[in-house]
Amino acid sequence: MSAVLAESLAPARYVPAALPATTIPVAAGDGIGPEIMDATLAILKAADPALAFHAVTVGLKAYEGGLMAGIGEDTWQAIDQHKIILKGPITTPQGGGYKSVNVTLRKTLGLYANLRPCVSYHPYVTALHPTMDVVIVRENEEDTYAGIEHRQSDEVVQCLKLITRPGCERIVRYAFEYARAHGRKKVTCMTKDNIMKLTDGLFHKVFDEIAPQYPEIATSHMIIDIGTARMASRPTDFDVVVTPNLYGDILSDVAAEVAGSIGLAGSSNIGHDCAMFEAVHGSAPDIAGKDIANPSGLLLSAVMMLVHLGRAKPATDIHNAWLCTLEEGLHTGDIYRDGVSRRKVGTREFAEAVIARLGQQPKKMAAVDYPEREPESLVHPDVSIPPHVNAKKALVGVDVFLNWDTDTRDPNELGAALEGLAGEDFRLALITNRGVKVYPNGNPQTLRTDHWRCRFPALKETVDGQAISRLLMRIADAGFDAVKTENLYTFDGVRGYSQAQGE
Ligand code: NAD
Repeated sequence: MSAVLAESLAPARYVPAALPATTIPVAAGDGIGPEIMDATLAILKAADPALAFHAVTVGLKAYEGGLMAGIGEDTWQAIDQHKIILKGPITTPQGGGYKSVNVTLRKTLGLYANLRPCVSYHPYVTALHPTMDVVIVRENEEDTYAGIEHRQSDEVVQCLKLITRPGCERIVRYAFEYARAHGRKKVTCMTKDNIMKLTDGLFHKVFDEIAPQYPEIATSHMIIDIGTARMASRPTDFDVVVTPNLYGDILSDVAAEVAGSIGLAGSSNIGHDCAMFEAVHGSAPDIAGKDIANPSGLLLSAVMMLVHLGRAKPATDIHNAWLCTLEEGLHTGDIYRDGVSRRKVGTREFAEAVIARLGQQPKKMAAVDYPEREPESLVHPDVSIPPHVNAKKALVGVDVFLNWDTDTRDPNELGAALEGLAGEDFRLALITNRGVKVYPNGNPQTLRTDHWRCRFPALKETVDGQAISRLLMRIADAGFDAVKTENLYTFDGVRGYSQAQGE
């Protein structure tokens, strides 16, 4: 269906808003991408004729053209010019070397906030929880998704979990600003700071610092495991949830499924200068080209895009027409249920049904009414540098990680050797294996891999980098393989490193 044809499907009495012209770069994507994008653009064009769409190259076509990130130069230029992109799902080719388009776009464009509304449309779409309406605000750039991984020995690989104060500040502020702008009543922070006291602890701390600046919004904190369980069992306890990257990724898929179907979930990726809108689901190669895919996830993402652009009327009209279509039982195969649905429709027919209902209000489900706002009026939080970021930093020791292997892997043997290498600047305080203390006085039950963390606190109050270099030289000269070091600092006298289990 072409966008031009779609205009003629709009009911005669429907008067689209007269809005300024604007151009949206559009990446159709792979698999079902082109068909759901075609359907979505037809609906957009009917409700907002001043929109122009500029097709750009992303996904398989770009990969096949030798671009390992799957993104054409034309895409970067278009985003640079228009600061926005509507993107279909991408198939990432299997095998080494190919980079995820999504991760590359999110990181390169600084799209730090990933918003995933999860709403149930009961009784028209079967849902585990009929009255669910939650927005997950997921941090989108940091955490283990920074993608800094290293293999350090035969047996041990590591992934660096990076959480930064500016990163926490802007995502937490964004969640509160979003809640305020959209009349949401409560923001819940989810972390695992009972275990990761420094990284998740910082996220939680920043949340507690910022929350009082939004006194009209209720707040709570939950540990992510019970929080995820509660999202499945009692999602109505939640309104807006803000959480680090990995937890947000998992939690939002759980929430979308509990709400009815991941196929209905839209999302936005918001940065300071740019924004990307895409469905949560993938390219569904199993049903590609059959005109049976549900375009709703992409369509609701496009509605979020219109709201972001300050085009409230077409956003409201499309959303309500879509609710009417659901209510009237015109359902694509993925949500079709005997006794609930009236007719099974394909992708094109579904889009035509939405267009034909532009200007109508749903009769049973609550209609939406997006308020008129300036484009991007959601204030982008400025990242402040509070005084304690300039804390007095003191070097008080070093953790040296060794790749060490013998037949016995006896920590007492390693300990005795390292005690002799500590020198006049350090003492050997302990050795851990996978974070568990094995020397001195370890428990023989502890699994011992070939990767040992050896903690050398300074004998004096502080130490300098040269002393650490001399220690490392002695360790190397003794034939040990130091695979990594972590300096131990205090900040304003507070230790900036975790204690070992059993320390
Ligand atoms: P998927 O979401 O593509 O499909 C999972 C199941 O849901 C399939 O049975 C599919 O038919 C169905 N489904 C998905 N969207 C649907 C829709 N709109 N209408 C009806 N049914 C729908 O997940 P997958 O199979 O794990 O991944 C397929 C490909 O998509 C992979 O290459 C993956 O890397 C990619 N992917 C891309 C994105 C993205 O670009 N944002 C996200 C997730 C997965």
